[in-house]
Amino acid sequence: MLKAPKQVTRMAPVCCIIPEHVLQNILEVGQAPQHVLDACQSTIDQTKELHNTRIEHKQSLLAEQERPTFEGIIPSYIFETIAREAAKKEQLTGAVRHLNRTVYDAQHTNRRDPPRNKIMIKEGGALISKEQDPSYDANECYIGFQKTYDFYFNFLNRDSIDGRGGGLNGFVHYSEGYQNAFWDGKQMIFGDGDGVIFNGFTDELDVIGHELTHGVVEYTSPLDYSFQSGALNESLADVFGIMIKQWGNDPANPQTAEQSDWLIGEGIWAKGVNGRALRDMKAPGTAYNDRRVGSDRQPGHWKNFQKLPLSEDQGGVHINSGIPNHAFYLASTLIGGYSWQTAGPIWYKALTCGKLRQNASFKEFAELTILNAGDHEDSIREAWKQVGYPFDGGRDEL
Ligand SMILES: [Zn+2]
Repeated sequence: MLKAPKQVTRMAPVCCIIPEHVLQNILEVGQAPQHVLDACQSTIDQTKELHNTRIEHKQSLLAEQERPTFEGIIPSYIFETIAREAAKKEQLTGAVRHLNRTVYDAQHTNRRDPPRNKIMIKEGGALISKEQDPSYDANECYIGFQKTYDFYFNFLNRDSIDGRGGGLNGFVHYSEGYQNAFWDGKQMIFGDGDGVIFNGFTDELDVIGHELTHGVVEYTSPLDYSFQSGALNESLADVFGIMIKQWGNDPANPQTAEQSDWLIGEGIWAKGVNGRALRDMKAPGTAYNDRRVGSDRQPGHWKNFQKLPLSEDQGGVHINSGIPNHAFYLASTLIGGYSWQTAGPIWYKALTCGKLRQNASFKEFAELTILNAGDHEDSIREAWKQVGYPFDGGRDEL
């Protein structure tokens, strides 16, 4: 089965935790100190350049045919089936962990591929002392990787992002005042933030979980990063990010759906910014409202869906994700208990069942979760209904 090549604009760009439209708005409002505005501009510019690199990287991968890509001739579900069969085999002989982390110091360079000459922590190595690096970023990255890995391994039987024990590489101290953190398709990169609007990004387990989940999506059902499928891609990253936070912040005393705050990127804002988090899955659209930053634009119901052009947040991928995010919150709380034992595995099955199309709509994804809901079908159906299922009004593309 041959597929036509996809448009370049629809390839997954660098999946940043801080959406470009947020940085753009800080610039347009112009109320932040000049050095912060400068940092916003350079973060946007550098990210654009990284995005272009990513496209080149994708194209070279495509040429080599070395792994599933968005445009691969072999559908990703075949790779997924192979990975699943391998996992089953391992189960018979006892599952084997392949946690393999490396945290590098990017040494404030903004090179497209940061240097690998300064390893801060390698798998099994000692944490960094305060004298070596007062920021604690490398340690937080190293620990966050393990918790994310453990979450997928323990509860979803997945061996790392690629399902085949692939190494987890992270770079801290990327560039100067870089206001973002992202997964670039092969590694995770963290800026330091500017300290005025954005704090650092390594201390947020849900941020690390979100970014690494973009990798999982890419290896299972690589949803186009635009319009509804892009919003689903973003939402899945938040859904697994929040579960990793609910379980991983204190694994001895994890949080139920009722106990969770359902906030993504809590603590991302520096002191003085009027915001609880970057997104709120329980109450989309209420996470922040600050004169220098603007306000949270997420809808929580289909009636408020924002039809946006591709030039704006890839057609609203970080905006309309509020709708499926809220559906997951509702599903988890309607069932009750730990979300990774209830709605979480249902969402994971929908993602990995091989039937999720690259340009899937909210409706298609919702129906896959209902199909995989087992005993929880009524709750899952009700959750989607409460956010506007069956999402009448057709496709959103402009
Ligand atoms: Zn994302």
